Amino acid sequence: MSIHENIAAIEKQLQHTHCQLIAVTKTKPVEMLKEAYDAGCKQFGENRVQEMQDKQPLLPSDIQWHLIGHLQTNKVKYIAPFVALIHSVDSLKLLEEIDKQAAKNNRTIKCLLQLFIAQEETKFGLSFEEAEELISSGSIENLKHIQIVGLMGMATFTEDQNQVRQEFRSLKQFFEKLKNTSLPTNVRMQELSMGMSGDYEIAIEEGSTLIRVGSAIFGNR
Ligand SMILES: *Cc1c(COP(=O)(O)O)cnc(C)c1O
Repeated sequence: MSIHENIAAIEKQLQHTHCQLIAVTKTKPVEMLKEAYDAGCKQFGENRVQEMQDKQPLLPSDIQWHLIGHLQTNKVKYIAPFVALIHSVDSLKLLEEIDKQAAKNNRTIKCLLQLFIAQEETKFGLSFEEAEELISSGSIENLKHIQIVGLMGMATFTEDQNQVRQEFRSLKQFFEKLKNTSLPTNVRMQELSMGMSGDYEIAIEEGSTLIRVGSAIFGNR
């Protein structure tokens, strides 16, 4: 199947849902991104700052660039002029740096808090408790150039669909819980970024608003 056909098939599954497709283009050459763009895709996800920074000037300016991988504070400045949404925020220190660089660029940068929901060893993501602490700490309201618009999470890489579903469901429940509490003015629960090539169908059923799909569009990396 071609990139065009793969995108069309996924878009068809997204009809009548509130979920949008982000095409994950990491490691793929610019020609393939152009093909995806021509197939109607305007939202691209990259996990490395350098790669996103290299590709962005080579592609149409109406593309929304999503940073989905771990972000080091010293690299925020390279993407601050153009990034549409940073999915991988997991510390106040990082939020402060994004705020600073957004201010320098006279813009507000949208962010998601990355939550740790998988039964796997990983260094990245906040626990539910840590996320609640961060949001209620009083520190976020002062950051005038960021907006936290939701949450992101990755399920365990497993064949056990039930486990994956439970993990997505727990994130959705936390999202709804936060939605119903009083939040700082620059925090709102609007986007729920969950689902990749292997599990996006389950994620859609469990309330995802942004699926991040790479290999199901572009082939294996
Ligand atoms: C690579 C990546 C994806 C897409 O993975 P596929 O399995 O190729 O769809 C989604 N989210 C993150 C954070 C990634 O790093």
